[in-house]
Amino acid sequence: MARVFSGARPTGRQHLGNYLGAIQNYVKLQEEHDCFYCVVDIHALTTLEETRELQGNIHEMVLDWLAAGMDPHKSTMFVQSHVPEVMELYTLLSMVTPLGWLLRVPTFKEKARQQPENVNYGLVGYPVLMASDIVLYKGEMVPVGEDQLPHLELTREIVRRFNSIFGPTFPEPKALLTETPLVLGTDRQKMSKSLNNHVELAATLEETTERVKRMITDPDRPYRNQPGHPDNCNVYTLEHYFAPDHLERVYKECTTATLGCVENKTFLAAKINGALAPFRERRRELASNNGFVREVLGDGASRASDIARETLKEVKERMNLQ
Ligand code: ADP
Repeated sequence: MARVFSGARPTGRQHLGNYLGAIQNYVKLQEEHDCFYCVVDIHALTTLEETRELQGNIHEMVLDWLAAGMDPHKSTMFVQSHVPEVMELYTLLSMVTPLGWLLRVPTFKEKARQQPENVNYGLVGYPVLMASDIVLYKGEMVPVGEDQLPHLELTREIVRRFNSIFGPTFPEPKALLTETPLVLGTDRQKMSKSLNNHVELAATLEETTERVKRMITDPDRPYRNQPGHPDNCNVYTLEHYFAPDHLERVYKECTTATLGCVENKTFLAAKINGALAPFRERRRELASNNGFVREVLGDGASRASDIARETLKEVKERMNLQ
């Protein structure tokens, strides 16, 4: 079975972007692959100023994962810092990673702009830590959203470089995108918790409706009586997933100005609430089972540790460190 690895920062409750861009693939892949899904808490430290909410965020995120169908009997779910071998590998891989590669990464430049007072060393090394995560488990496929592609490309470069210096050790991992690799938020920027433009999977009916109603639709349709351009509308994009049977109708009615944006958003919100009802019910049940998340993560860390120790031993031998 091919090995799958993916990590996500513990941002707390997950949003539609996380689900449509990554989690739906996590769930699909676990049927026929050996999947490792990691809560990357050390990565989260690159942008956090304080860590009071970290444990709560890990818990909320894993509840979402489980409620969405990630199955601890099929997938290994664990927390990055619970398998500390990754930190050792990170140091070793940093020796084969030119600084120039890291300074060119678009997300580094963006974060440096967003938090000029906190351009820390870990932020520059973010993609090396990501590479360490993936190769520690010899991941071959990495389900991610489109925003992660530059990071994954860098992982591939680090792997090639390591393999060429020390001999073939790691597979070159391939990214795996969903059909919705970039979900936009209410403001038409990438949906992201940090921009507060997101719709949480576990939101209430009212919160979901309120967020969807806030969505900026087709910018070239300033008036209700003008025809719209569904292909340039985030609401229509989301309807591909949440209302696939209505696409033709919405397209026709929107382009003939029969359907207004407000009405269409109300329709989408109802569809999202309908689709997420079973998820929300499962999440409530899981949340009432005290200790379950901790149990899942404990088992996961123990399985992940066995592989991590083996890989690290092999790496050290290759590098003549033992
Ligand atoms: P966030 O971007 O909210 O901080 P992460 O960076 O931890 O969340 O992302 C977790 C996973 O979800 C990654 O694979 C990422 O590519 C994916 N993802 C996050 N936001 C989106 C989005 N708006 N559209 C598609 N995929 C996304």
